[in-house]
Amino acid sequence: MEMLEIATKKHDESRQGEAYAPLNIEAHIYKKRFYIESYGCQMNFSDSEIVASILNTEGFGATRNVEEADLIFLNTCSIREKAEQTVRKRLTEFRRIKQTKPGTLVGVLGCMAERLKSKLLEEEKLVDMVVGPDAYRSLPALIEEAETGQKAVNVLLSRDETYADISPVRLNSNGISAYVSIMRGCNNMCSFCVVPFTRGRERSRDAYSIVAETEDLYSRGFKEITLLGQNVDSYYWIDEANDETITFAKLLEKVALVSPQLRVRFSTSHPKDITEDVLHTIAKYANICKYIHLPVQSGNTRILQLMNRTYTREWYIAKIDQIRQIIPGCGISSDIIAGFCTETEEDHRDTLSLMEYSRYDLSYMYFYSERPGTLAARRYTDDIPEETKKRRLQEIVALQNRLSLESNQRDLGKTFEVLIENESKKSDQDWMGRSSHNKVIVFPKVNHDYIKGDYVWVKINSCTQGTLLGTAVAKPH
Ligand code: SAM
Ligand code: SF4
Repeated sequence: MEMLEIATKKHDESRQGEAYAPLNIEAHIYKKRFYIESYGCQMNFSDSEIVASILNTEGFGATRNVEEADLIFLNTCSIREKAEQTVRKRLTEFRRIKQTKPGTLVGVLGCMAERLKSKLLEEEKLVDMVVGPDAYRSLPALIEEAETGQKAVNVLLSRDETYADISPVRLNSNGISAYVSIMRGCNNMCSFCVVPFTRGRERSRDAYSIVAETEDLYSRGFKEITLLGQNVDSYYWIDEANDETITFAKLLEKVALVSPQLRVRFSTSHPKDITEDVLHTIAKYANICKYIHLPVQSGNTRILQLMNRTYTREWYIAKIDQIRQIIPGCGISSDIIAGFCTETEEDHRDTLSLMEYSRYDLSYMYFYSERPGTLAARRYTDDIPEETKKRRLQEIVALQNRLSLESNQRDLGKTFEVLIENESKKSDQDWMGRSSHNKVIVFPKVNHDYIKGDYVWVKINSCTQGTLLGTAVAKPH
């Protein structure tokens, strides 16, 4: 059954299926061209940069024009049924390109690889290569194999692959913000989630390589990095040389110390794992952004238990209180699932009331979509009718819209330090950037000569639900 989906994940939703091109035009000519489109979470977009780096060293250059590509890749997502359907549709379009240009190879990368390998390769004959998220180093060999007409597959999941030594090619970057992957996989078994099956066990990347990548980015003019992982708070790496255990709090500190001029963000935190230490580290360093994405999923303890989230409503509320107490003014956002198995109207109202309590600035909101192989698919019946899921989701979205507007209204008259990321999408007369607490801020370019990558203080004088609007002012004393 097709699942209708409403999500206000505007910035991310707009990137779905984005074709990648490198930040700088390559000086030398590559022997062949690859085209790569990415779907799903930020981790996939970041993985595409690792793939690009591996392909570059093999003499392949990125192109944004699928017609001129010798290799076409789709970095795929399995998180909801809708994501898989979108990818299938794209694959049939690519089959047409293949027919007009024989010799073009099509590959599926990422989360759908493991789940659908035989279907995509043998039954539907849509693709030449299927490569799982831990097998990108074998891409060159797989391409060679596919060039001989064989079907090339590697979907093995690894216990230690972190691509620590691969320096990602920054694709479609604004030259200011970059993602740095710090861990892969997930050991949490949230009952609705397919990630532990498609991306494997949790493993943390060498802290030195993370700091080195950050230093390199800063030296090349980047001003903001986001540490990425499915559950960054369970980052754990042992520095054997110094007999030191590096927790996420310690890693955050190391990265923050690269430069006070470099902003540090991170995503995503599982509420059960974000420690008081992490909160104090965020509070201590001005350049660690005061923003936490803390996905609640549901506001009802019984549903949370069925979801295997390992916290209760009350525990989550205490965590929100703790964040607000340790980091005043901290931005908080969430992920919410409507219509999980057995959810009653009362359970749904618990979600709404917890949203009100948490005063989220932003939420990513979804229908429950049963994923084959997950604990929920095996144990529970997907028993909430689609219209009910849809109506509950709409109520959640409407509430979040109000909360986002109220949150922005609370910022009227305040002054924030903004890192300029780009020109505003709506007008080349305006700059767009974000505050530490992750609000999008737009302000006119007139009367100052700030440029992209500068920090500037902006006084907020109006707002919409998604944006704060203001004017550049002198740094407050
Ligand atoms: N690791 C992150 C966490 O625990 O918050 C998020 C990973 S997942 C890529 C992003 C979001 O997708 C989840 O937080 C959840 O809200 C949503 N999601 C995951 N599985 C889903 C499903 N089967 N149906 C609907 N939404 C789902
Ligand atoms: Fe999925 Fe839960 Fe892991 Fe997030 S923490 S990736 S929702 S299993």
